[in-house]
Amino acid sequence: MGQNSIPLDSAIERLLEQTPVPGKHETAPLLDALGRISFKNLDALINMPPFDSSPLDGFAICHKDLAGASRDKPAVLRVIETLYAGDAPMKPLAKGECARVMTGAPLPSGATCVVRYEDTDNGKDYVQVPLSLREYQNYRFQGEDLRIGRRLLGKGEPITAAHIGVLASQGFTEASVFMRPKVGILSTGSELIPGNQPLSPGKIYDSNRYVLGARVAVSGGEPVFGPNAADDAPAIAETVEALLKTCDFIVTTGGVSVGDRDYMPLVGEMIRAEQLFRGVRMKPGGWITGLYKAPKIVLCLSGNPGAAAISFDLLAGPVIRRLAGASRVLPRRTRGVLEEPFPKTSDNRRFVYARMEGEKVAPSFSGSGSLATLTGCNCILDIPGGTPPLSAGDSVEVILL
Ligand code: AMP
Ligand code: MG
Repeated sequence: MGQNSIPLDSAIERLLEQTPVPGKHETAPLLDALGRISFKNLDALINMPPFDSSPLDGFAICHKDLAGASRDKPAVLRVIETLYAGDAPMKPLAKGECARVMTGAPLPSGATCVVRYEDTDNGKDYVQVPLSLREYQNYRFQGEDLRIGRRLLGKGEPITAAHIGVLASQGFTEASVFMRPKVGILSTGSELIPGNQPLSPGKIYDSNRYVLGARVAVSGGEPVFGPNAADDAPAIAETVEALLKTCDFIVTTGGVSVGDRDYMPLVGEMIRAEQLFRGVRMKPGGWITGLYKAPKIVLCLSGNPGAAAISFDLLAGPVIRRLAGASRVLPRRTRGVLEEPFPKTSDNRRFVYARMEGEKVAPSFSGSGSLATLTGCNCILDIPGGTPPLSAGDSVEVILL
């Protein structure tokens, strides 16, 4: 790697320094907000449950009326009304009275507990209760799940299925979300042809378009595809310029190393972009080139699909999450224990897709070009430069995807 190469953390820092925090937002129907980033802090507007209610089918009673009740000497209470879920209680309970209640029904004033049907004789006008209950036994309090004012969702937080349920229980039908950033994707290489066409000699299908497009979507961006470009610097420059007009960020693959037709550094000069870095000290995909054409970044990755995927996850993912409004942009990390040996020496810092279950991690061993071993991986091993081959049982640093 060249003299201008920099460590990964510096590269991420330089990219994030040039990545604006967005201000644009829109209102999305609640279900469409799944996976998007909340533009607002949202606090509970109502208590959940909104009123004291019964957690089961039974009789709402004042516990004092059950004092001393037993099988031999059951308490006998007059049933004054029946309350279903959705009813509003009409009558307060007087001494010696109770109400039949169904799950979710509001409790009448004077009720301090609920006895299950099964524990009574289930009488109609009068009911016999052969046991005593504690105050507030089987009693759901107003606000016991959620109190007015509790934070439900923070600005910059990704909206999950769980959030959507809570927001719906508060009566929301929409959510305010950041606009999705448009991310331009450009595959370069004269060997590439689109899918669904017969392969001619020497050609391969362009998988990076999809490798990166899917990753843009899961990172919170909207992929915008440029037409594939052959290894031709003016043609690539023209396509990048066109994408810069409509996109917030651009990721290209191919042509970043030092082969005869690796034109991306030249393309950077042709579009008069500043070079943020040329080369990142990591394997695979180290010839990453960061270009900046104010106010937008063009990140140029190796064409090797496996390398493109890993360098996208490490460098482009954080940029897209920042552009999408997420307050947390870097992936979570943990430590794991290798389940199988990793036989390579790592002179440079090395990243390997892996599968983690519990604390056990199994590296998907493959060259940087392989996509086939990637399915099922849920993390990336982060192996420091200067690490000898690793054995099963060794402790490793893990980046969670
Ligand atoms: P490059 O980075 O241009 O030197 O390409 C490195 C390797 O990745 C070569 O074997 C290319 O054929 C392959 N490659 C480049 N772009 C793509 C792509 N879009 N889809 C699949 N393979 C690619
Ligand atoms: Mg190439």
